[in-house]
Amino acid sequence: MNTTSRRLNKYRYSTSISRDYNNSDNEDFNTKRDLMIKECQFYQNVPNFEISLDEFEESALDRLKVLRKIEELKKNNIHGQEFKEIINNCICNNLSSVDSTRQVTTCHRRLYYAKRDIASHFILRAAYCKTEDLQKWYLQHESYLLQHRLMNLMDYDRNGNTMKLWLERNSLTYELVSHDDKLKLWNFFFSCILDTDEKREFNHTSYYKVPFTQAFDLISKRQCYLYQGYVYVPYPKLLTIIVAKFRSHVSKSLFKASYIFRNYIEKDKRLKPLLETINQQGILHVYHGESGNQIRVNFNHHTVNDHVQYMPLCMYNIHSGLKMNHHLKYHGRMQYSLFLKGAGLSMEQCLIFFQNEFTKIIKMDKFNKEYAYYIRHIYGKEGKRQSKSSYSCMKIIMGQPPSIGQYHGCPYKHYDDAHLNKLLCKIQIGNHRERQEILDLKRKKHYTLACQKHFDVVHPNAKSNIGVDLSGVGIHPNAWFLASTSYHKKDKKVLNNKN
Ligand code: SF4
Repeated sequence: MNTTSRRLNKYRYSTSISRDYNNSDNEDFNTKRDLMIKECQFYQNVPNFEISLDEFEESALDRLKVLRKIEELKKNNIHGQEFKEIINNCICNNLSSVDSTRQVTTCHRRLYYAKRDIASHFILRAAYCKTEDLQKWYLQHESYLLQHRLMNLMDYDRNGNTMKLWLERNSLTYELVSHDDKLKLWNFFFSCILDTDEKREFNHTSYYKVPFTQAFDLISKRQCYLYQGYVYVPYPKLLTIIVAKFRSHVSKSLFKASYIFRNYIEKDKRLKPLLETINQQGILHVYHGESGNQIRVNFNHHTVNDHVQYMPLCMYNIHSGLKMNHHLKYHGRMQYSLFLKGAGLSMEQCLIFFQNEFTKIIKMDKFNKEYAYYIRHIYGKEGKRQSKSSYSCMKIIMGQPPSIGQYHGCPYKHYDDAHLNKLLCKIQIGNHRERQEILDLKRKKHYTLACQKHFDVVHPNAKSNIGVDLSGVGIHPNAWFLASTSYHKKDKKVLNNKN
């Protein structure tokens, strides 16, 4: 994307946290411990740095991957060290600038991830504020995430210095019980401990004095000593108090955000669709492609052509443009190559596929110099070395419309009625009545419903076909492709069985 369009795609948040992050040489970033403290956010201040629409969606989806992983592990009853390792890995791959071997990466990269982490939290707050169920889910899993990060901080140094620093930086002040007071109340404190390890550690454990209103959970479980309106909490249990405070803080802000959503975001034509579909996309697979080809077909540069029949209209259209001109402009190249990658085409095969087409009109040298880089880049082998995921329908629909000689975009959104009708007739989608139904939906601006109708027309009885997942049709082009491929695979099986 050129600089101008990137700038056009930017918008602002408000308030103060950016000051910390605008200074990448900030000494706060200088040690691993400080970095861990920085990354373990209480998210009290709304950020005001700029972020592109691309980053907006990507960072939110990356955070969703972590939250959904937590959900999956909790559902499967995975706890302890195994839970810790899996989530640490997932955070490292998606949210953190501290890599899995706990090495601090470059300053620029740290800044980048710190911004993404904060932005993604607030984006998901906006995306999950709309209904009570969504709020509940988000609150629950964000709390687990904070709890996990705080446990990492506690583990980082057992003497509690890191945690103390974190509390200070987040303006969370809890009164430390003096050694004399601890001795006086020794009996009461000790009687609240059930765990033998904790009993063994008792002499070395610091206690904090906290108003009882912040410790209902511990009181209900009889895990702390309650006296004159205060509870006396051992250091490891402080985590429960902090997470409860975080829950209450995020819960209030979700409530406020739902009001803001109703009154402001509803009117924002760019943000509203993005925020409305982020939670659905989280349920879907994020199509990176490297997790193996989920389509289980022989998908290589030879067989891409055979699979065009299973592609949604947007991808069919780009493919036709490529075959006709032996070239694609930037947006078309990005949209199509990411889609192919998400469908399971390897980097080597993707390079050969584009090279075979482009070198029909340009020299191999030129291809290698001007086009091969961007393919390696989207597979995470160049530049920031971050593998990119394919575009969702919303991203394509909200993206830059195609101009003359370009084939990207969503035909349901970006083509006029006559042009779309011509395209549907050309590839023989349905009969006249069915095409009119598709066009009617497009005229009413129900672009994704028009696309779903297209799917229904060319895949009769797909809804009753067990094993064909239709939940992502009209949400993600790769989900359309996946559903179509599995539908036809099943169809072939039925035919083979009949014969
Ligand atoms: Fe492609 Fe999505 Fe538009 Fe369908 S709705 S044509 S899958 S962008």
